[in-house]
Amino acid sequence: MRPILASENRSLLRQYAWSKVLLAFDFDGTLAPIVADRDRARMRDSTHRLLKLVASLYPCIVVSGRARADVLRRLDGVRLRLVIGNHGLEPMRASGDFVRTVRRWVAMLSARLRGLPGVDIEDKRLSLAIHYRRSRRKKQALAAIREASAELAGARAIEGKLVVNLLPPNAPHKGLAVQRARDSLCCDTALYVGDDDTDEDVFSLKEPGQLLGIRVGVSSESSAPYFIRGQAQIDTLLLELARLRAKSGPVQGAAP
Ligand SMILES: [Mg+2]
Repeated sequence: MRPILASENRSLLRQYAWSKVLLAFDFDGTLAPIVADRDRARMRDSTHRLLKLVASLYPCIVVSGRARADVLRRLDGVRLRLVIGNHGLEPMRASGDFVRTVRRWVAMLSARLRGLPGVDIEDKRLSLAIHYRRSRRKKQALAAIREASAELAGARAIEGKLVVNLLPPNAPHKGLAVQRARDSLCCDTALYVGDDDTDEDVFSLKEPGQLLGIRVGVSSESSAPYFIRGQAQIDTLLLELARLRAKSGPVQGAAP
C-alpha cells in the first residue's frame, strides 16, 4: 500500500481528478470518526464543509453499511448524487425477499444471543449488523456471534470493526454498488475511500485505470493499493481534491 497524499502519488490523484470521476465515500470511519455510541457518529464541521465543497465540484456519493435513511440524516444537508445504504441494498425496488429473510434472522439471533451483555443486533430491514463494541468479553462475544450466524442459510458474514455484518443471499455488495453508480452517473472512473472489511468488496474489483481504492489506515490484508494514514486525513484528501478540480477548470477533463 502506498500513501496517496505523498508527493510522488499526487500526479495519480491529479489524473483522476481531471477525469470524469465519481467520488465515492464510506461513512463511518471514513467521513466520520468511529465513536463508541454509533448513534452519535457525525462528521466534523471541517469535513462537512469540505464535503459540501467537493460535492459542488464532482459527482459524489456515499456508500454505507447503515440504513439509507440513517446515513441521509447524518449528511446534514450535504447534497450528493446518490446515497447508497445497507452495503448496496438501498435504494432497491424489489426487496421483499431480503426483508423477509432479515426479519427471520433477527428473530433467531435475538433468541440465540439474548443474555450476552454488550452485544446488540441492529435491524436495518435489508441486512443486519451485530455489534459487540460494548462487550467486556469481546473474544467470547465474537465466538458466540460466529456460531449463531453460521446457522443462517446463505448468509454472507462480513466481520468489521467490532461488528459482524450479515447480508442475505444474492445481496449486492459495495463493489457492485460503486460500479453501477459509476455507470449510471456516466463517469469513466471512480475514486473510493473506505476503512473497513466491507469496503474490500470495492478495493478487490481490480480495475486499474478505472478505480482508485484508498483505505483509511494501513492494513496488510487490504486489497486497496493506496491509503490515508487515519480518519483525520480525510480533510486533507478532500481539500486536495477540491484544489485539483478548481484548477482544472470545467468539470469534464481528459480521461487519465
Ligand atoms: Mg466504515
